[in-house]
Amino acid sequence: MTAAGDRLRPTLFERSRPGRGGDKVPHPPKDALARIPADQLRAEGPNLPELDEPELTRHYVNLSQLNYAVDTGFYPLGSCTMKFNPKVNEWAARLNGFAALHPLAPDELAQGTLQLLWELEQALAEIGGMQAVTLQPAAGAQGELTGILMIRAYHRSRGDLARQDVLVPDSSHGTNPATASMAGFRTVTIPSAPDGGVDLAAFRAALGPTTAAVMITNPSTLGLFESRIGELLEAVHAAGALAYMDGANLNAIMGRFKPGAAGFDVMHINVHKTFSTPHGGGGPGAGPVGVGEKLLPFLPEPRVLRQPDGRFRLERPGERTDSIGRVRAFVGNTGVLVRAYAYISTHGGTGLCQVSDDAVLAANYLKARLAGVLDIPFQRPCMHEFVASAAGLKAETGIRTLDVAKRLIDYGFHPPTIYFPLNVQEALLIEPTETESVETLDAFADALRAIVAEAHADPETLHSAPHNSPVRRLDETAAARQPNLRWRGMTGDQSPCPD
Ligand SMILES: *Cc1c(COP(=O)(O)O)cnc(C)c1O
Repeated sequence: MTAAGDRLRPTLFERSRPGRGGDKVPHPPKDALARIPADQLRAEGPNLPELDEPELTRHYVNLSQLNYAVDTGFYPLGSCTMKFNPKVNEWAARLNGFAALHPLAPDELAQGTLQLLWELEQALAEIGGMQAVTLQPAAGAQGELTGILMIRAYHRSRGDLARQDVLVPDSSHGTNPATASMAGFRTVTIPSAPDGGVDLAAFRAALGPTTAAVMITNPSTLGLFESRIGELLEAVHAAGALAYMDGANLNAIMGRFKPGAAGFDVMHINVHKTFSTPHGGGGPGAGPVGVGEKLLPFLPEPRVLRQPDGRFRLERPGERTDSIGRVRAFVGNTGVLVRAYAYISTHGGTGLCQVSDDAVLAANYLKARLAGVLDIPFQRPCMHEFVASAAGLKAETGIRTLDVAKRLIDYGFHPPTIYFPLNVQEALLIEPTETESVETLDAFADALRAIVAEAHADPETLHSAPHNSPVRRLDETAAARQPNLRWRGMTGDQSPCPD
């Protein structure tokens, strides 16, 4: 049996036939080649596939249909907020004035984009309870780095060089410790309390004159709101450290909890999660960072400024001497920021609050529907996502979370996040989002119930799942350790996905 199903087609190179299709390209002027210096000319033509237009179109459309997308089905990937992306956002992001603006256009010619960025900064500052926002970082992970670099600059500006430690809970996203290390800090991991929340006593014990910052995700990656957050923030500040909020889970709390007002000094917002934007393929995204009073001077440059006459301009290099400098070229991933602006403006304040309420309702509904199907390690009400576990199922049947996830594909669903957070055995992190109907949630719960029944009756079907997908179960270790990155022909037995 091969891992590649019959829906995988030959590549463009294999379909290529000499002389087919190239005629559609308009012919260049006769002397075009004569104008190019001889040493810049190719000795041979480029090795490009030659196809006619219908074949080319079908090739890409067929490829696109191998993908699972939030536009084709339920995508409950916990921690990622794979919500539906309203098509009006796509229309806005493609408007010529935004999409075709040259990144080096002078401010006078970029007033519309600058105004949109400025207004988006105001909106995100309001939502996060922050003083100001930078839109530059290209993703949440880069937002984290930006925030921690500002914290480093803050301590240095006070001559406080002993602060080398960043405390993170064990449920945190891997980007948190990675960020701390990249910024030159030592990561100190703090185990969670038995109820899944932060262990306040453990944090208190670890805080001290060497603590630079604490990174907290609230709600946590277990989908739980940190009820002791006020006490924790007091302890952090009493120790002279700053509090970083990982805002990836903002989808649960808009209009209900403002991290800045609660005392967080800095947070990133994954606008490609909370404010739509399709990001399942790995990007692009944007990770704006909001700061409170203490970190204001260190924001990356250039900021967008509104002048007294109502016009907008970018800061000039060196205008703010304490800035940590640029973290990305130009002003950020503008297309993603336009989508976020469109999303925020179409919902308005009360609409965003409703988004969070509905996301929390959907997660709690699905969690209740799965009681008795999978283990639910944390019983208290969840926020926009919740953790289930197949540890009990594994003990009874040998079926693991990975098998359940692969079998879900046969039922037409994208699996949830699995084996994360790391502090729960056989974890499934499920995030339905506010954009799904109750019928979809019911169908997903029914599929999981059916799969658990199969685990008892017919475990072999689960071990070898998925059965109906473009590729069958792959050896994920081999794929990670010996990635097959070179194109090989698919003719004969040379499959790119070997048995
Ligand atoms: C997604 C996520 C990140 C990283 O954000 P990217 O935009 O993917 O770089 C960090 N923390 C948490 C909790 C996340 O869910």
